[in-house]
Amino acid sequence: MSERFVAAVEPPPEIGRPAWWFIFNQRRLLVRLNGEGVEVPRLIAPEELGLAPARREYLGRLGAEHCFAAEVEVEPPPLEGHDWQGLRGLFFKLPEDLFWLAGRAIQIVDWDRMSQYCGACGLKMVPKAGERAKECPRCGALKFPRLSPAVIVMVRRGREILMARSPHFLPGVFSVLAGFVEPGERLEDTVIREIREEVGIEVKNIRYFGSQPWPFPNSLMVGFTAEYAGGEIRIDGREIEAAGWFTPEKMPDLPTRISISRRLIDHFLETAAGPPDPAPSADLS
Ligand SMILES: [Zn+2]
Repeated sequence: MSERFVAAVEPPPEIGRPAWWFIFNQRRLLVRLNGEGVEVPRLIAPEELGLAPARREYLGRLGAEHCFAAEVEVEPPPLEGHDWQGLRGLFFKLPEDLFWLAGRAIQIVDWDRMSQYCGACGLKMVPKAGERAKECPRCGALKFPRLSPAVIVMVRRGREILMARSPHFLPGVFSVLAGFVEPGERLEDTVIREIREEVGIEVKNIRYFGSQPWPFPNSLMVGFTAEYAGGEIRIDGREIEAAGWFTPEKMPDLPTRISISRRLIDHFLETAAGPPDPAPSADLS
């Protein structure tokens, strides 16, 4: 997320000039067509375009500009010069800060839609003042936007990287391994469990690498590097259909630059550059 973005929940009382509006319908974002490209519309309000959103939420400021999220529930009428597009495909079309802001926006409208009623007692929830949360007036239950954390791990063995492919990847593409955090786990426990379960490999020296929001639909990807500690590749055949060790000289097709997986792989390629490892010598210890 951009350093220029400052999140907030309550909009200022008077804005009086166009803001960025991230308006969704069926998880597709409204974009204005601009020659070959697209842009996020800047509006005083969605009503300018004849839209009547079922929900709208203030997101905060990007630089000096205010930002809103909204969702239109009914099938909207065709809009001259506009289109509704899936978020993932917009990564290469929108400026990066607006793309990630759209990812934040879609999760906020998802949360608002899915937290209309208390999951415990069924009463209508009400907004909790000053927070991105809703509260049940009867039983006090709280609902925050839900995040599902996942780990993603670059496992290294000398000048080799461990990568695998899942059946839903594009043909030929391999990537580093990832998995969701289970209740009660530390992130490093998830790293060890996922690599062991999916490919039968043990790892050590787990180090934090970086993180990335992943709004498809509501993950936070937490990246790690780790070193090979033992085991032979043994795939589960369900989540993983192929796995292997790859050197910088013999890489398969890689995921696109949208994802932290590619940053982890690029980090490997930068740090593994240079001559191949010497042939293993006899262990004299
Ligand atoms: Zn309740």
